[in-house]
Amino acid sequence: MSLDLKSLVRTIPDYPKKGILFRDITTLIEHPEGFRESVERIAATYRGRDITHVAGIEARGFIFGAGVAIALGAGFVPIRKKGKLPGETIGQNYALEYGVDTIEIHAGVVGPEHKVLLVDDLIATGGTAIAAVGLLRRTGTVCDDAAFVIDLPEIGGADKLRAEGVTVSSLMAFQ
Ligand code: 5GP
Repeated sequence: MSLDLKSLVRTIPDYPKKGILFRDITTLIEHPEGFRESVERIAATYRGRDITHVAGIEARGFIFGAGVAIALGAGFVPIRKKGKLPGETIGQNYALEYGVDTIEIHAGVVGPEHKVLLVDDLIATGGTAIAAVGLLRRTGTVCDDAAFVIDLPEIGGADKLRAEGVTVSSLMAFQ
């Protein structure tokens, strides 16, 4: 019988603020089979699709993205918060509920000859993922695929990302 990955995600009410139901993936990755199976199921979707790089979004996207990159024989590109990468960077601003945030990648790592799969743990409004795809595409690279462990479909982020021409997959959904 296949492992029920969804049952391994813990829900924490009122984190990081009151009224939010936080989907905690630490309980999934603490489970050896759960972690391995999550990475393998994502990788299985993209095997044979000539993905050259997996781009993971700081910080939980690094955990799954790195595993998927190894499983696909691809390189790993960290997408980090502003000021964290040591080399020359290119950045992309995006709107938060209150204010603006910036994500960055190293300049020159990916370009038109590459095909990048974006990986993150969860998509909610889609703001982070849309900014990441925009940033990657500004390098001229192909970024038409994004994979998430968790989708929150009622918030609509995955549909917004699809409207940008991105094919979106997820391992599970929470209402
Ligand atoms: P979005 O930009 O789609 O609204 O939010 C997605 C980003 O916020 C992801 O990088 C994700 O890690 C983080 N995030 C927002 N809510 C949750 C949550 O309930 N659980 C987890 N694990 N991450 C969340």
